[in-house]
Amino acid sequence: MAASISSRSLLDPKSLPDALKMLRDEGPLTPLAGCTDLYVSLNFGTLKESRFLNLWRLAALRGIGVRRNTLTIGALATHTDLIRSPLVRKRLPMLAAAAREIGGVQIQNRGTIGGNVANASPAGDTLPVLAAADAIVVLQSAAGTRRIPFTAFYTGYRQTVRQADELIVAFEIPPISGRQWFRKVGTRAAQAISKVVIAGVVGKQPRLAIGSVAPTVIRLPKTEESIARGVDVAESQRVLISEIAPIDDIRSTADYRRQVAANLLARMLSGD
Ligand SMILES: Cc1cc2nc3c(=O)[nH]c(=O)nc-3n(C[C@H](O)[C@H](O)[C@H](O)COP(=O)(O)OP(=O)(O)OC[C@H]3O[C@@H](n4cnc5c(N)ncnc54)[C@H](O)[C@@H]3O)c2cc1C
Repeated sequence: MAASISSRSLLDPKSLPDALKMLRDEGPLTPLAGCTDLYVSLNFGTLKESRFLNLWRLAALRGIGVRRNTLTIGALATHTDLIRSPLVRKRLPMLAAAAREIGGVQIQNRGTIGGNVANASPAGDTLPVLAAADAIVVLQSAAGTRRIPFTAFYTGYRQTVRQADELIVAFEIPPISGRQWFRKVGTRAAQAISKVVIAGVVGKQPRLAIGSVAPTVIRLPKTEESIARGVDVAESQRVLISEIAPIDDIRSTADYRRQVAANLLARMLSGD
């Protein structure tokens, strides 16, 4: 049942410093970006929080640029921004590919990369890309800035290292050499949550990250190492299966996820 919004309040900062002060002095506050995840909980009556901080107007969090050869993506960049950005398409095409598969056009226009990451679903489609890209999560509070390697950002199922007074302000992605690859397998081509989602880089230093097969998105260091050693595909598939821990749930079975993950690895290595 949809919950009443009359008991909820929204703070509307005009700048990032204002927002960080509000988080420090008037918290606890729940950041609100495109609202595509939060609104679902509100509609289902499962949203416990009652005080919100509107990030949507904070232009400082929206930009996409390159500084010191590092791609920087503001947390408020929408999936449409990622799809349209020439910088993302050139330097991180697997992220543009992931953004194109998220929801439908309406969700892509409102949903942000920061919201996708902060929401911390193991099925979030941008997460394996950021993990495979060795991205850095930039967290900011009124007290200062912390840079966390993406692979250390999640501490458990839907748990992150972000403190209540911090915002994700950006993601920093170093240059990547090699062929980038992204695939999502869901029930349908659009508006479907992933059963398995995978991103990788094929090259001298292979990288592979996968979502929906463990409590958090994970890198697969043993599989990466087997690819680097040039073992046959079947052997790399066996290593991959030993590294993941999928479960049976409403969207799929563990066996199906294992099989699909192995098939996707073969496709990535074949250049398909
Ligand atoms: C119909 C539909 C289809 C969808 N399809 C997909 C899909 O295919 N793939 C997929 O991955 N997701 C999908 N989603 C989920 C959602 O759209 C994405 O996760 C989106 O990127 C969330 O971004 P948002 O800005 O709307 O987040 P919000 O709903 O505004 O926030 C989500 C969470 O992140 C926190 N948050 C947001 N921004 C920040 C920040 N800068 N710092 C700290 N915390 C922050 C909020 O407090 C909240 O907890 C779908 C949702 C719907 C409703």
